[in-house]
Amino acid sequence: MQLSRRGFLSTGAAMGALWVMGGAGVLGALGGCAAAAPRTSKVAPGVTHVDLGAVRVTMLSDGYGQRPLDANFVRNAPLAEVQAALREAGLSTETLTIPYTIPYVEIGGQRVLFDVGNGEFGAATAGKLLENLAAAGIDPKSITAVVFSHFHGDHINGLRNKAGNLVFPNAKLYVPEPEWAWWMDDARMAAAPEAMKNAFAATRRVFASLAGTVQRFTPGNAVLPGVRSLAAFGHTPGHTAFLIEGGTRPFLFWGDTTNIAALFVRNPDWAVTFDMDAEKARLVRRQLSETAIRENWLVAGYHLPGSAVGTLAPRGKGYEFTPLGG
Ligand SMILES: [Zn+2]
Repeated sequence: MQLSRRGFLSTGAAMGALWVMGGAGVLGALGGCAAAAPRTSKVAPGVTHVDLGAVRVTMLSDGYGQRPLDANFVRNAPLAEVQAALREAGLSTETLTIPYTIPYVEIGGQRVLFDVGNGEFGAATAGKLLENLAAAGIDPKSITAVVFSHFHGDHINGLRNKAGNLVFPNAKLYVPEPEWAWWMDDARMAAAPEAMKNAFAATRRVFASLAGTVQRFTPGNAVLPGVRSLAAFGHTPGHTAFLIEGGTRPFLFWGDTTNIAALFVRNPDWAVTFDMDAEKARLVRRQLSETAIRENWLVAGYHLPGSAVGTLAPRGKGYEFTPLGG
């Protein structure tokens, strides 16, 4: 725990230094108007383009999943408070709808997907990435890189179809080293509780035959030119966020730093049932949110609403997420 905490803090320091060096250039390019919202256009119901100049972002919906709200979904808050937060946001207090949205980024000649959705392995309402890639006019064969935030099934299952074929056959695959080490440990899988066996099985189905070709990176380092990884451990042991620089505004993809915004952006001290180390996840949620607000980063999250990319602002004991494009 000490090690990864130190890892995060030193990453934070490195990010701060980077910002100091890059800040003047970015502000200059914007004519001092750093807060200007980027131009967005909705190409299809599940496809939003975000114009960041030299960096082109397209947010692609992979659909959504639903589950009944139960007392365990938020581990450390009374059900009545959770229901009140949902009600305040105009959401159902009985059925949770959890969206999945994948950033596609064109940067420095690379065509990059961050996570790949549920593929043929999720609910009927999920697995819409290929449909939305088609709507955006993006050929899966043209994807040059897939970068993974972590190994939960809703983020990795779409890499292969049921026949076992790779869906993005020309993409190099980038995975966080600590995430790979944790899930691909056979002894740990053998000792895992029954409830986790499926998650381990998914990592094997997707990655087992790729051990020799997958690129394992150390969180904190650059993954590709313009794409820096940030250790964000807690949701899973190797959960990683990504900062994409070089456009008109830095773009943070924070993966599962929060689940749905109405609960966990608004109440960052609440722990979703999927957070494997709730305290580490809570610290990361606080630190990334504070940094994003201070540095004026755009924030994208896998389970955020609407286009799933927008801005954060302080509100009450937590934050408010406002998606771009309504
Ligand atoms: Zn997830």
